[in-house]
Amino acid sequence: MNLICLDDDPRMEPALRRFAVRLGHAVRFHTAAASFKTDVQARSPDLIVLDLELGQENGIDIIHWLAQAQTRAPLILLSGHGDDLLDTARRIARASGIEVLGVVSKGRIVRDLPPLLARGRCESAPAVPVPVPVPVPTPTQAAGAQLLTVGDLARCIREDRIEPYFQPIVEPGDGRLRGAEVLARLRLPSGRVLGPAAFIPLAESAGLLMALSESLFAGVLRLKPQLMPLKLGFLSVNLSAAALDHDRAIALVRGLLAGLQDCCRLAVEMTETAAMADSPPARDLTARISLLGASLSMDDFGTGYSSIRALTELPFDTLKIDLSFVSEMFDSAKAQTVLRAIVTLGHSLGLKVVAEGVETEAQRRFLIETGADLAQGFLFGRPMDIAALTRAYGPAVVEARVGLPA
Ligand code: C2E
Ligand code: CA
Ligand code: CA
Repeated sequence: MNLICLDDDPRMEPALRRFAVRLGHAVRFHTAAASFKTDVQARSPDLIVLDLELGQENGIDIIHWLAQAQTRAPLILLSGHGDDLLDTARRIARASGIEVLGVVSKGRIVRDLPPLLARGRCESAPAVPVPVPVPVPTPTQAAGAQLLTVGDLARCIREDRIEPYFQPIVEPGDGRLRGAEVLARLRLPSGRVLGPAAFIPLAESAGLLMALSESLFAGVLRLKPQLMPLKLGFLSVNLSAAALDHDRAIALVRGLLAGLQDCCRLAVEMTETAAMADSPPARDLTARISLLGASLSMDDFGTGYSSIRALTELPFDTLKIDLSFVSEMFDSAKAQTVLRAIVTLGHSLGLKVVAEGVETEAQRRFLIETGADLAQGFLFGRPMDIAALTRAYGPAVVEARVGLPA
């Protein structure tokens, strides 16, 4: 395949050629941006290796130029400036729609570059047809395509079409089910199920969010006979304080707590932006929820402002690390440091720490090492209806697991 490299240091050329040619790549090496650009436009490369320090120009300008030129080739970034700069450049490229296969610090070329060049070869030139996974739209994406009017939504709420889905929250070490987050879904008359992106923002702007939550929570209570055998420690529900009638919200939480009394504890998840520390209504609402006996979880921690202040000033018991931190944990050493620090911060404040968005075994192992208390994510289960939750985590499964030899 066709590889084009831009590096103002000609001493890089022999090393690059040695690795690339061995892998069957045709290499064109440029030390000047002008000839590199002409070549990229003339040949549509399959892979680009780009040094970030270029003397006259810099690699970031080249990244922007590649994006503007709508180059489809993935990038491998090189730099002698260390991991932080490489990580920032990777984000810049990704934000411009350019795929980055990997980044290589110049001191580690021999070790790190060949595997990336080999990956480039597999990904861009499949000699044998490879089965392409059909992308399954996430509920959020699927929902985005659907246009719902306020009238439709109000009718759906009246007709009890808001359904609770449950996403497992587990012990990261042994995967044991500890609780579940209730996530709203809307079932259309056609049977199609929409994710919250299709209706939560609409409900919020149309003043229907409380009615929606009432309908959802009533649905949860109707499922109590199926929830009981799961022996959940807790169920958590989402409340958006932004569009909230506080008295109605308190009544809602009180009703849910009473209904679930002999079943499990209740946690209320709020986002930090909704529960800003210095907002008297937020203080009032969170205190009232706590006093009722529900635990209080700060959702999406790390994505907004004033989060640390809200943690210290409002009665949160749990911190949920936003899934973006988990998904980026292997992008850089810094991301891992931040993740560890969040867990430590949470624990120092006496909070339980839940990591959201755990999709891989490697992420799970890293989280165990950080000491995160609980984990949630596709690795353990997507949001699912009660029948699926029972199939995955019900007594039959638990008994079968216990019966297995250690
Ligand atoms: P959230 O409260 O942060 O809920 C977690 C979201 O992350 C869920 O999306 C879940 O499917 C997704 N998620 C969980 N694990 C993974 C993973 O491993 N990878 C990835 N890529 N995603 C994962 P969902 O169900 O689409 O919900 C989106 C948002 O809608 C929720 O975010 C919450 O803010 C809102 N929402 C859902 N139900 C309600 C509700 O009843 N009331 C309110 N106010 N908001 C709700
Ligand atoms: Ca949540
Ligand atoms: Ca969340």
